[in-house]
Amino acid sequence: MIYLDNNATTAVAPEVVASMQPYLTTAYFNPSSAYEASRGPAHAIASARGKVASFLGGVRPDEVLFTGCATESNNAAIFGVMRANPGRRHIVTTAVEHPSVLEVCKEAEREGARVSFIGVNHKGELDVDAFVKVLQPDTLLVSIMHGNNETGVVFPVADLARIVKETNPDIIFHTDATQSAGKLRLDLNDQLSCVDLLSFSGHKLHGPKGVGALFVRRGTRIRPFMCGGHQEGGRRAGTENVGHIVALAEACKLAEAYMESENAIVCLRDHLEKALCERIPWMEVNGAGTDRLPNTLNLACHCIEGESILYQLDAAGICASSGSACTSGSLEPSHVLKAMDIPFMAMHGSVRFSLSRFTTAEEIDTVIEIFPGIVERLRRISPYWDTAAHAPRG
Ligand code: PMP
Repeated sequence: MIYLDNNATTAVAPEVVASMQPYLTTAYFNPSSAYEASRGPAHAIASARGKVASFLGGVRPDEVLFTGCATESNNAAIFGVMRANPGRRHIVTTAVEHPSVLEVCKEAEREGARVSFIGVNHKGELDVDAFVKVLQPDTLLVSIMHGNNETGVVFPVADLARIVKETNPDIIFHTDATQSAGKLRLDLNDQLSCVDLLSFSGHKLHGPKGVGALFVRRGTRIRPFMCGGHQEGGRRAGTENVGHIVALAEACKLAEAYMESENAIVCLRDHLEKALCERIPWMEVNGAGTDRLPNTLNLACHCIEGESILYQLDAAGICASSGSACTSGSLEPSHVLKAMDIPFMAMHGSVRFSLSRFTTAEEIDTVIEIFPGIVERLRRISPYWDTAAHAPRG
């Protein structure tokens, strides 16, 4: 099997599995208990917090909260800030966020917030003029993702956060870095120093599912999202998932080392992109010509159905996606591609390949060999293809 759906989830690295195992077997004790045996798990959490803090650019360990996933981190950030600041009701986000931000913002609207959804252009770039103009005296929170899960387009979050703080230092800036964590350097003490809240999760960077983190800059006005026990300094109740927390830290450490050593993913992705573009007519790269995550390639194959492409790829042993995993399964076109105003024929034939550090050159060569034939066969039976292929392009 060739797995090219790493924006949906990644394989857990063997070192990560090994790191968490003791906490699922012999060292299963509740880290809050009073006896000696619990000290190991408690110490493991403290050490993991330090590692994640270092991964985020050397932030303070107490600025790192462990959560259950990035969806929880996003919910905690947005609802937590709203609850702590009831006087200001305006939230700014983008039209292309993951549902774990978009749907939370829609829920916030139902609870009385005013939400501005900023659009993007054809390349997927944010309309920065519209963004600057929409900031109001009562703007409470800006939530803008770092790397897009579908197209890989990277928003200039460092610059946007700086603009926000220059406009009004009281506005809280949150970024969903679930797709960029482990692929781009996240330095919250340097280029991202104007970011107050940052979310990510383990399973996108070769850690396990069921664990995430939320960076909360010291001094940020936020209420807990989960109330109950005193865990995480009273900011996220619930007995800590020790093994998964340790695993997340190990995954961060490995990702950091990988980013420092080489970046083979981008070479493989570029090779795949170039080879497929040379071999397949009437195909475009969604998000081309702008900054993108190094592992993501979203292709628009005109006149065929993305779902049919996926079935054919699957039959050939290749896993890819036609949109975010959360929306695939429905034939509703992706809200991200819609926001980019991708033409109907191209939007419906979009397929996403997302690589990881475990992807090999041989796997990429196999896809280059197989994919053009799949597109050609589907076009032969497409009712739209004959008409389109003979019409002038535009
Ligand atoms: N944000 C983005 C950009 C994502 O891609 C995802 C996962 N598809 C999430 C948030 C949600 O992550 P999790 O599965 O950890 O809740």
